[in-house]
Amino acid sequence: MYVLGEGVEANALYEMGLERIGCWPCPATDVAEMEAVGDMHPELWARWRDALAGWGMSQEDISRGTWRWRRPGEGGVGPHHMKGLSYEVEGERVVGRVAMDFERAREMAKALGCTPTPAGEGIEFDGIVVREDGSFEFEAGDGGDRARKLGELYALSQRSLHCFGCGLCLGQCGQGAVEMTGGRIYIRDTCTSCRACHRRCPIVRYGAGGAGAGAGG
Ligand code: SF4
Ligand code: SF4
Repeated sequence: MYVLGEGVEANALYEMGLERIGCWPCPATDVAEMEAVGDMHPELWARWRDALAGWGMSQEDISRGTWRWRRPGEGGVGPHHMKGLSYEVEGERVVGRVAMDFERAREMAKALGCTPTPAGEGIEFDGIVVREDGSFEFEAGDGGDRARKLGELYALSQRSLHCFGCGLCLGQCGQGAVEMTGGRIYIRDTCTSCRACHRRCPIVRYGAGGAGAGAGG
């Protein structure tokens, strides 16, 4: 408006409906504007999609625009930002693999209400089955549900890998169910799976980008 008010000739692209003019793509622009540029210059859009695919992003993320997310779920991250986690949607199931310390994760997941799988090869919480080798699967559901589950799983994996023994989780439990022995967290049977200790963990809150921190009990 200032430019127009001063009678200066504005960049014609503004009159074509664009708001951010400079880099392609501008990382701060919205997806709609990127696609508008894509309509004007399909070759640019195709190059960008190819680049995203080359960086390992799924076609689903590319199509839905979730390649821009920093963490799954509300306000959340794209799975491509979850180092060590990969997944595919196979029919009705999401299947993937995540780096974790399974023994620690199994103990910590008691706070999430986990149960052993019937075959005893892993654990299950929130409908997510995780096995000792880090492979996992769950029902695909809708995009939001999928992102939430990936976030939960990622937060647990990060906690299992990067717990540094700060002890913050111990003070969160009204049941006295969290204990630390030899620098490792153990959850006693008195745990009610309220998740307070999990949500308070700095690894979950910050190290995993907040993924899983907002999960209800
Ligand atoms: S705070 Fe205590 S009761 Fe709640 S999930 Fe953690 S260990 Fe369980
Ligand atoms: S709160 Fe501290 S001690 Fe507890 S799991 Fe997280 S990093 Fe480890």
